Amino acid sequence: MTKRLEGKRALVTGASRGIGRAIALRLAAEGARVAVCARKEAEAEELVREIEALGGSAIPVILDVRDAALVATGVERASRPDRRIDIIVNNAGIGGPTPLAGEARSDDQWNRILDVNLNGPWRVLRAALPFLPQGARVINISSVLGRFGVAYNAAYCTTKHGLIGLTRTLALELAPQKITVNAVCPGWVDTDMGRAGIGLLGKASGLDPDQAFEHVGKMAPLGEVLVPDEIAGLVVYLASDDARNVTGQAIVIDGGQVMP
Ligand code: NAP
Repeated sequence: MTKRLEGKRALVTGASRGIGRAIALRLAAEGARVAVCARKEAEAEELVREIEALGGSAIPVILDVRDAALVATGVERASRPDRRIDIIVNNAGIGGPTPLAGEARSDDQWNRILDVNLNGPWRVLRAALPFLPQGARVINISSVLGRFGVAYNAAYCTTKHGLIGLTRTLALELAPQKITVNAVCPGWVDTDMGRAGIGLLGKASGLDPDQAFEHVGKMAPLGEVLVPDEIAGLVVYLASDDARNVTGQAIVIDGGQVMP
């Protein structure tokens, strides 16, 4: 069977683990040459070896989205040899509580989350623009917390709402080049970040980690915490030719919690 992304060049930020790792694996399985971007060289190289062992193609790229110089060199490396990147996935992200009041209030935490989750994709896209060919794809990993607010998580919710605004705006700006720009909004996904959030929620309700995991699954009508590969499947669709007329969307994948 023909692979859907044969010959395409992709770049995935935050590919060391979780959703980014699953996306890199799926894009490679569909035939794309994936620039596996991670903050630690060894982690990027490890995933590249795994992709190659599975018969795919990938290159390791050191990239911290907070560092404009590393973003510029990383994006340029990802575009080699023909100065082209067909698929950009802005996945890197961090979470954490940012209450407005009380002793836990922290401007540093607010700034850190905004810098990674919102300035990060902006930096990557500014650097990548010269390499995006006609018909390229930009996929921003937002969240259902880009669709509704959650108390004490102002920074995270602000960045994920902001990413949807960025998506809609750039979808208009890049439409003349037939470049599509979409956001993916997952609900709870079983990753380090997901487990940390579930743990905090459970603690506040007096649940142990296993009970909390089951509880948050049941918050969605379909009753499950998602796995990273499900998000990767949606990303592959958005990167494929089937989605050439899908742009400016914020697509929810959450077991039916959010129904716009
Ligand atoms: P994760 O398991 O915590 O992984 C986060 C990834 O982002 C890691 O690869 C991490 O790299 C990378 N990263 C963090 N700071 C970075 C920086 N400054 N520069 C480059 N990379 C950086 O989280 P995840 O659950 O896979 O989340 C991936 C994306 O999905 C995030 O944008 C998140 O907001 C979104 N999301 C997650 C959920 C969920 O329930 N899990 C739900 C909705 C949306 P290191 O390994 O170097 O730290």
